[in-house]
Amino acid sequence: MSNILIKNAKVIATMDNDLRELNNNSIYSENGIIVEIGKCDNLNYQPDQIIDATDMVVIPGLINTHHHLFQNLTRCYPRAQNESLFGWLTNLYPVWNNIVPRDIYISALIGLSEMVISGCTTSSDHLYLFPNGSKLEDEIEAAKKVGCRFHATRGSMSIGVSKGGLPPDSLVENEEAILKDCQRVIEDFNDNSEFSMLRIALAPCSPFSVSQNLMRETAILAREYSVGMHTHLAENKEDIEYTQKHFGMRPGEYVEQLGWIGNDVWHAHCVKLDATEIDLFARTKTGVAHCPCSNCRLGSGIAPIRQMRDSGVKVGLGVDGSASSDSGHLLSEARQMFLLQRVQNGANSMRAREALEIATLGGASVLNRTDLGSIEVGKRADIAIWDITGLVAAGAWDPVASLVLNGPFNVRDLLVDGQPVVAEGRLVNEEEAMIVERVNARVKRVMS
Ligand SMILES: [Zn+2]
Repeated sequence: MSNILIKNAKVIATMDNDLRELNNNSIYSENGIIVEIGKCDNLNYQPDQIIDATDMVVIPGLINTHHHLFQNLTRCYPRAQNESLFGWLTNLYPVWNNIVPRDIYISALIGLSEMVISGCTTSSDHLYLFPNGSKLEDEIEAAKKVGCRFHATRGSMSIGVSKGGLPPDSLVENEEAILKDCQRVIEDFNDNSEFSMLRIALAPCSPFSVSQNLMRETAILAREYSVGMHTHLAENKEDIEYTQKHFGMRPGEYVEQLGWIGNDVWHAHCVKLDATEIDLFARTKTGVAHCPCSNCRLGSGIAPIRQMRDSGVKVGLGVDGSASSDSGHLLSEARQMFLLQRVQNGANSMRAREALEIATLGGASVLNRTDLGSIEVGKRADIAIWDITGLVAAGAWDPVASLVLNGPFNVRDLLVDGQPVVAEGRLVNEEEAMIVERVNARVKRVMS
């Protein structure tokens, strides 16, 4: 552990209770904890490292609440480029069938590297298929290598085509085996302590790929171990139709009767939640992972984020898998949300600062991380530093809003738990070129 002084930032957007923005201030962190924030001259410490933040914007690290890292090997897949959710999935399932454990590791390595370069310090991932002996620890290994904080969710699919589900039978698992492996990964990897770098959550994939029994049993197991619960919900019109046809109810009723609401649950997408469902989510503190680029790419619709926020629903941002958003860039998701809410609700319906708040504090609340999401004394030093002296931010009058409105798109420096993970725009723990080489080799193998 090292002690780091981030010195003399142009502005620190703290995201504290008053959303204070501090000019020409510094941050000192010791062993991963923020110890003091103040004017540089008043800080009397002996840091191991000083990061000069003159002319930089400093914000809390962004928090990603939904991803499928394995999809990084199937970006821009031609046969799925112009499909909506169900057609997109059925074109990709056969390709994903070829994935082996090393593919999971390499795809997570590039996906998480992309995430940290875009300012993300904590990422969740939803791994819901385990072909050819793949395991959750294959991606956990990659998160440790990159150095980011990680919430790995053990996903599952149990209803294949022969039982009325969407995925091929070859990609679904036996429910007993799923639950057994869920228990194993919790016992082997979950760290529920306050400053945890690695948490596990349980995540049956969607209403059209798992049984109601598996949803119920998963909830019981998750609550026995006090781990989070995650799934896809109300993603588009066809998804709603499937739930109504097979279960005779809307998605909100479906998850309520299965015990899938509450502070320990977050649902991805929720594009089609109605007013009653928004109220249910607000009352029960159920979280939402909003993935605007994926929703656009698959033509799913615009999620009612303004209404959710006004009703008190916990909302965080997610990049979704790179087969449907093609890019794992959380700051771009903040911008896309900001633009879509304005398209839907008018120009004064979302401020750039609110988009950043959702990308930081919002994500922390969805993942139940009270130790993250803001720059305050006592919180973890998960910090993103952005250089606004370059071309894309030249001429910008408002350095904080500029992150959403014009860039820069990548961080200059990123600290996770007080440790540099990106320095001067480059990965600290891995060589970018080497990752690309390994990914290209894996893609060739998956294609063959
Ligand atoms: Zn997803």
